[in-house]
Amino acid sequence: MQLTKLRGFRDLIGPDARLLGVIEARARAIADRHNVAEVRVPALERLNLYARSTGETSDIVEKQLYVVQRSSEGSGADDQVLRPEGTPGVVRAYIEAGLDRSDPEQRYFYCGPMFRYERPQKGRYREFYQFGVEFFGRPDASADAELMVMIDELRRELDLELNFEINSLGDGRCRPLFRQALLEWGRAHLPELCQDCHQRLERNPLRLLDCKIDVKLTESAPKSIDYLCDECQAHFDSVRELLADAQVPHSINPRLVRGLDYYSRTAFEVVSTGVGAQSAIAAGGRYDGLVEALGGAPVAGTGFAIGVDRLALALDPIKFGVLPDAVLIALGNSALRAAMQLSGEMRAAGLRVEPLSPERGLKALLRRAGKIGARYAVIIGEDEISRGMVQLRDLRQSTQHEVPRAEVTERIAANVASSPRSLGEGAHLEPPTNR
Ligand code: ATP
Ligand code: MG
Repeated sequence: MQLTKLRGFRDLIGPDARLLGVIEARARAIADRHNVAEVRVPALERLNLYARSTGETSDIVEKQLYVVQRSSEGSGADDQVLRPEGTPGVVRAYIEAGLDRSDPEQRYFYCGPMFRYERPQKGRYREFYQFGVEFFGRPDASADAELMVMIDELRRELDLELNFEINSLGDGRCRPLFRQALLEWGRAHLPELCQDCHQRLERNPLRLLDCKIDVKLTESAPKSIDYLCDECQAHFDSVRELLADAQVPHSINPRLVRGLDYYSRTAFEVVSTGVGAQSAIAAGGRYDGLVEALGGAPVAGTGFAIGVDRLALALDPIKFGVLPDAVLIALGNSALRAAMQLSGEMRAAGLRVEPLSPERGLKALLRRAGKIGARYAVIIGEDEISRGMVQLRDLRQSTQHEVPRAEVTERIAANVASSPRSLGEGAHLEPPTNR
């Protein structure tokens, strides 16, 4: 009987889980500061939803969906699939709640696991985590810029080097001209295109630019930014200006596309400048036609999704790890109650505290305290209780003093505050320097 985990799935234990938690906590805090509300939607949806939003011809829908339950009716449209991405479910929920008509301007974030059946490798898993934000009812360029500013705030908090690549795909008016030009270019270069691109050419020529094989060839392909109408050009210029004001490091990538008709204008990707094959950390863009395509009102939309696992790969587990401020050691049963009570007071003061097992000897407990990296041990024996004292042992300096029980919390708090318990705790958001 096989009881091991499935290929492409992971158990995240201790520091590995911690890194994801740090990223999620900080991303949530940034969303809070931008007045973005949480939305939780199901992990299981109808296949139809993704066929109509992610795209029937996309790799995600054609090759990567996990089908959990086949529907009795034959077309497959109602098959139940694990979500491969967050946006379609959020858009569905927004429409289903009637908000597209009653209160269209909304700002949401979501966070959770996504599932794609693809070939596992470093930074590419079959279950992975995304943190995403969606703005509805905001057709203006400043909404696009604010999304990228949010990611940049996270970048600065985590002290990472990332670059933003941006592009504009135009809208329903000017994109058809670009599409036509790309189609003609593709037909002219047919013999040089890879097998997959032969398919892409007639079905969805924009995806030619997404090809990982024909990279060199597509450098000579038409660029969407050369076909923008005046309104799309002004929108793109405004996004870039706002990014420059906010000092978000960015460059134009004319190969960046999202292959569906619902996507319009801004498309962006955030790449890690450190080496590594899976360098795309986040992706996003404007999807002004999507709400309507899924049966809602014609409401503008724009958003992004961060690959939390890939961001975690760029972080140092030591820097973001945490160690206990203190352990409590109770010697004898009557000391146990005093120790439990004191540990509660210490937690209330914001300290990270672990009460150790009372069933072992002092020597073994001090070894244990050292192993888990505690800064202090607070030792309480019967004798100390009667005198209202405790033993405070500094495990880093191997010194020990008797101190009044009533003062020990304050003493530890003062000392750990002056020496941060992890480097990551010291990192904080700094505003751009030119303000
Ligand atoms: P890629 O080109 O790397 O396959 P993608 O275009 O499929 O990425 P999106 O659908 O735009 O990715 O998802 C947004 C982010 O989610 C990506 O930038 C990446 O960081 C992360 N991501 C996507 N697929 C995976 C995966 N299988 N494992 C881990 N992270 C992933
Ligand atoms: Mg992919």
